Amino acid sequence: MSVSIKSEREIEIMRDAGKILAEVHEQLAELVQPGISTMDLNRKADEMIRKYGCIPSFLNYNGFPASICTSVNDQVVHGIPDKKMILQEGDIISIDAGVIYKDYQSDAARTHAVGTISKEAKDLMEVTKQSFFEGIRYAKAGHHLFEISAAIEDYVVAHGYSCVRDLVGHGIGKEMHEDPQIPNFRQRKRGIRLSPGMTLAIEPMVNIGRYDVCVLEDDWTIVTEDGSLSAHYENTILITEGEPELLSIGNDPVPKK
Ligand code: MG
Repeated sequence: MSVSIKSEREIEIMRDAGKILAEVHEQLAELVQPGISTMDLNRKADEMIRKYGCIPSFLNYNGFPASICTSVNDQVVHGIPDKKMILQEGDIISIDAGVIYKDYQSDAARTHAVGTISKEAKDLMEVTKQSFFEGIRYAKAGHHLFEISAAIEDYVVAHGYSCVRDLVGHGIGKEMHEDPQIPNFRQRKRGIRLSPGMTLAIEPMVNIGRYDVCVLEDDWTIVTEDGSLSAHYENTILITEGEPELLSIGNDPVPKK
């Protein structure tokens, strides 16, 4: 395993990539409402990403047929945008997007409410987002990678939910998926020591029910095996000597506690 350390020049580009991606997410959030199809969201996202001079990194990645992933309700990740998938009041939708800017990548995901949602769904979304922030308390030079994994899972389990195990966060840079892999659950080892200049995509995927998932016949969409709701929250971050820098956060509110 080789974990790349980015130079100041590379970091500067990744900051710009992250800002653009955050902006794309913010604009997509405004479009999420009952009646819109996930294909419409995809079309808008593709347009925006290209308008900023970026390439949508998901398009054709291992053959993925769209520019973003749209995963509704019990869909965990990798949902394929579809003109027949019309968002309904009460749904939740996880939008995962990636951009390539000047040869560098940024990757981030948000889960949104469609209109008014149940308290159950709202709680899940909040815990999922907060678990990311619990995890990155340990995303500092000198800490070990799997401290992040453990903190995410501990927080999620304390709320009665589970972290998906079959999919993990990852290093990111010139490639979307670089070393190291970053599980969202406790590991037997402590993992690599974190150093300034590492860029990581931390991405808890949280289910209300069990952590087991399966893949639909489209060979992409991952769903919870028990049909329970699932949420996803992700940012690309930079390890520094102090607090991590959240490259793709934009104006997404950071929880206070
Ligand atoms: Mg990712």
